Amino acid sequence: MTAAGEVRAAFTDPVSNRECELVIPPGGQVYPQPGEAKTGVAHPGCPAIADLEIGLDAFWCPACGWNGRVSGAWAHDVIRAAAQVTP
Ligand SMILES: [Zn+2]
Repeated sequence: MTAAGEVRAAFTDPVSNRECELVIPPGGQVYPQPGEAKTGVAHPGCPAIADLEIGLDAFWCPACGWNGRVSGAWAHDVIRAAAQVTP
C-alpha cells in the first residue's frame, strides 16, 4: 500500500541480498519528533518499517530484528530529492 505523496526507492541489502525499499512519507524525517512522519526501510516478510541509521550506513528493525546495510550517502540524496517534491 502506497500513501499519496510517498516516495519509495528500491535497493538491495548487501547483508541479506534481498530487495528492500527506502520509504519516505510526505515530510518524513529520519529522526522524527513525536507526531512527525518517519522515513525508514521496508523489508521482505515484515509489516514494520525499519529504523534508518543513516550515519552508520545501516538500518535495523525492532519488530523482526532485521539488520541491514544501506549507503547513507545514497539515502541522504534520495531523501533530499523527495523533500523537494513534497510541500
Ligand atoms: Zn522487520
